[in-house]
Amino acid sequence: MMDLAKAIPLFSGSSGNSYFIGAKGEGVLIDAGRNCKQLELALEAASVDFSSIGAVFITHEHTDHCSALRVLANKHRLDIYASEGTLNALSGKLYPNARVHVIEKETALGNMLIRRIDTPHDAAESCCYSVTTADGKTALIATDMGFVTPEVRAAACGSDFVVLESNHDLEMLRLGPYPYILKKRILSDRGHLSNDACSVELAQLVSSGACRLMLGHLSEQNNTPQIALRASVAELERAGMKFRRDYTLDIAPKEPTGLSVIY
Ligand SMILES: [Zn+2]
Ligand SMILES: [Zn+2]
Repeated sequence: MMDLAKAIPLFSGSSGNSYFIGAKGEGVLIDAGRNCKQLELALEAASVDFSSIGAVFITHEHTDHCSALRVLANKHRLDIYASEGTLNALSGKLYPNARVHVIEKETALGNMLIRRIDTPHDAAESCCYSVTTADGKTALIATDMGFVTPEVRAAACGSDFVVLESNHDLEMLRLGPYPYILKKRILSDRGHLSNDACSVELAQLVSSGACRLMLGHLSEQNNTPQIALRASVAELERAGMKFRRDYTLDIAPKEPTGLSVIY
């Protein structure tokens, strides 16, 4: 199995989110969207064995992050970690014998350290996670937030690999078919990060030394990979940083592609 720290975006976006992060034969899943079968297939395509997965960490109770959880945790006897508020919100959706754990600030798992960072989002008690693997490398998966808090920013700055949400193009959202109330929710402080907000953040990140980047949780309705990428590359260019010279930037794919980032 993998020796080097590796992040695999299994799938990402409104139809389901899940990432694998691991090194030296052990790893964790962050979120479990879609269904168990699709997650199994995505892991298989990425050559990740279930025996290497120590636990699954859930960011919040929205279905695009946990719809596979009930079956996945039961079938593979995976431990589930989340904030207390998220676990309460999920309680009716899990089997009674599910092995759930509250994560307060951080937890050690094998030779890994997983840290919780709270996020402003319209869920019970949402958070994102940074994972430090046995080789000392840290990855942060940061999606589903209305704005980037100082805590998320600090965690991102010290990370070797960062996924940041680039959810929507403001104009596409404004002109698009979503009902007014949903648009308002997405744009709010407890909604999602726009391409513009993401790109400004990335420019700060690269200048602070974090240069392995990925855009995550792109809206299917209000964004495209090209538009999101263009927005970030343009903003970074304005800040004097060149794509591939000063940083790498990938897009977390909607469908499993086998894409993995070694960092
Ligand atoms: Zn989501
Ligand atoms: Zn959400």
